[in-house]
Amino acid sequence: MTLQWLVLESPLLLFAMLVFVYQWLRFMLLAGLGYRLLWQSDSTWIARLRIQPGSPTSRQMQRDFALTTLTLVIFSAMTLFVRVAQEQGWARLYFDIADYGWPYFLFSLIFMFILHDAYFYWSHRLLHVKWLMRRIHRVHHRSHNPSPWSSFAFHPLEAVIQYGIVPLVVLLLPLHPLAIIIFALGMTVITVIGHIGYELYPAGMTRHPVLGLLNTSTHHNMHHRYVHCNYGLYFNLWDRLMDTNHHRYHETFDAIRYDSSRAG
Ligand SMILES: [Zn+2]
Ligand SMILES: [Zn+2]
Repeated sequence: MTLQWLVLESPLLLFAMLVFVYQWLRFMLLAGLGYRLLWQSDSTWIARLRIQPGSPTSRQMQRDFALTTLTLVIFSAMTLFVRVAQEQGWARLYFDIADYGWPYFLFSLIFMFILHDAYFYWSHRLLHVKWLMRRIHRVHHRSHNPSPWSSFAFHPLEAVIQYGIVPLVVLLLPLHPLAIIIFALGMTVITVIGHIGYELYPAGMTRHPVLGLLNTSTHHNMHHRYVHCNYGLYFNLWDRLMDTNHHRYHETFDAIRYDSSRAG
């Protein structure tokens, strides 16, 4: 069974099911690991890394888990578009890295993250328009203090909007399926970190000239707590350009990290 056979020639239903099982296991592994190591830890040092006090109810976590599973069903169904696009000649998937070389492979990967960062920021801003917020995005904002299970707890229409980046990149440039797989893994890791409820990044990071360009767990946690701020995903770029970082972002991050460094 080769990657080419799986992506282009395997039975459609088998392909969709394998994509779903892979996405669900990937999510369960990351969120489950975070939950086990942080939420269920007895360590006082880990307790000091908690971003917001308190904990969502188990009912809330179950609801978020069910919604996340539904989102992953939608993501898997939408992955079928990649195959349709290739069959119709709209996409230029390639299966031999030598066709374009490793530098291009790397470029395509970086390009996907930069494009997705802009796509996420602006689609997220749009979802915060009152009409869309009330009908769609409110579902994700039901958790004011998120848990790893909230990561993909979306209204079904938001799931479609969020995953829209995949059909978009497939139409834009030649891609190796491995680049898409690595990109999707990176996206899942960062999304779970954003909802993990604990700050794991090093003290002083948000004020560092280079590392500060990456968003932290605190950044998205504050989005859930205060709602109309901190819209970005990977990079602290669009929030800076559009002046939408919460005015106490650095202070909040420092209060958690410096306090836990002193205690440790
Ligand atoms: Zn939001
Ligand atoms: Zn969120």
